[in-house]
Amino acid sequence: MKILVTGGTGYIGSHTVVELQNEGYEVVIIDNLSNSDRTVVDSIAEITNHVPVFEELDLVDRAATFACIEKHKDIVGVIHFAALKAVGESVEKPLLYYYNNLTSLINLLLAMQKFDLQNFVFSSSCTVYGQPDQLPVGEQAPLKKAESPYGNTKKISEDIIRDSVDAGSMNAISLRYFNPIGAHDTALIGELPLGVPNNLVPYITQTAIGKRDHLKIFGKDYSTHDGTAIRDYIHVVDLARAHVVAVKRMLQGNSKIPFEIFNLGTGNGFTVLEVIKAFEKVSGEKLNYQFTGRRKGDIEKVWADTSFANQELGWKAALGLEEMMLSAWNWELALSNRFT
Ligand code: NAD
Ligand code: UDP
Repeated sequence: MKILVTGGTGYIGSHTVVELQNEGYEVVIIDNLSNSDRTVVDSIAEITNHVPVFEELDLVDRAATFACIEKHKDIVGVIHFAALKAVGESVEKPLLYYYNNLTSLINLLLAMQKFDLQNFVFSSSCTVYGQPDQLPVGEQAPLKKAESPYGNTKKISEDIIRDSVDAGSMNAISLRYFNPIGAHDTALIGELPLGVPNNLVPYITQTAIGKRDHLKIFGKDYSTHDGTAIRDYIHVVDLARAHVVAVKRMLQGNSKIPFEIFNLGTGNGFTVLEVIKAFEKVSGEKLNYQFTGRRKGDIEKVWADTSFANQELGWKAALGLEEMMLSAWNWELALSNRFT
């Protein structure tokens, strides 16, 4: 069975392609390589002994998107990762984010409608909850005003998908990720941040390897047990596996309603200092860090209520914080060997 994975050479997409191929699915990747590298296709092939089909194209180009979907009309499901994702950049270039993320989605849904494709999985984010009033946060929690144009593209995308499902025969599942970190245990694929990383874990590993001087911890006066902010970090391989489960659920006709939404997290929150401690323990490295003021737009604490995903999908995150940090560190070490 053939699955289309947009953004399949990216961080989460590449791990999902691996899990799909390990389960026997044929995969077609669409990616414009705006934030990833063609060599990822070779790494996926090395891990799985199977080369996915790779179509380099920009989903903003409707004619090219239609032609590609027509060529692969036997696709039975679509997982849509392709998007721009840098929160800070989205504040500076909102139109780029709305244009890229929403036009890509609309073109893809139009193509699915035209060629009668049924099953759609979307990459959403816990950013839609903002700072929740209650923790852990469940899927029914009210959505808050987005803190950034990027976050708003996720909210708007979910509305577009819901309306499309209501109007047609398509089924969809939106997966709201908490904080994906870590890398494949082969250290052949992982996160490849362009330039200075915005996210905590790549910043930690790049600091430890000597690419950055020190980590700045944003805020030490949050109302948490050590004053630093709390997130629900999830191993990217656990996250990838949830996509395979979601696709299967739709293919087997097990969706309870045509548009389902699931939180993907571990259900455990960790502070920034706890993440650093776990990193130091598994790597044996001492991290150079300093405290600085809060980052604008950051929330204080969030972690997922995963009971709905656990019960309905029969999926549960299996890998812990230390496994996440060790795989992230091994990936950073592999990258530094690759480029020296
Ligand atoms: P990524 O940047 O590594 O992967 C996204 C891929 O999409 C890249 O390879 C990029 O080249 C491609 N792409 C972007 N615009 C495209 C277009 N117009 N046409 C074709 N390809 C295009 O990002 P990721 O971390 O793997 O994230 C995947 C998805 O998950 C995104 O939708 C992101 O918003 C969402 N998400 C990520 C996180 C996270 O922390 N990484 C958290 C929540 C949600
Ligand atoms: N963080 C930090 N220093 C950094 C990057 C992040 O202290 O250089 C903190 C950030 O304030 C947040 C947590 O680490 O509390 C996770 O940040 P990240 O950007 O990885 O994820 P997000 O803020 O999107 O949840």
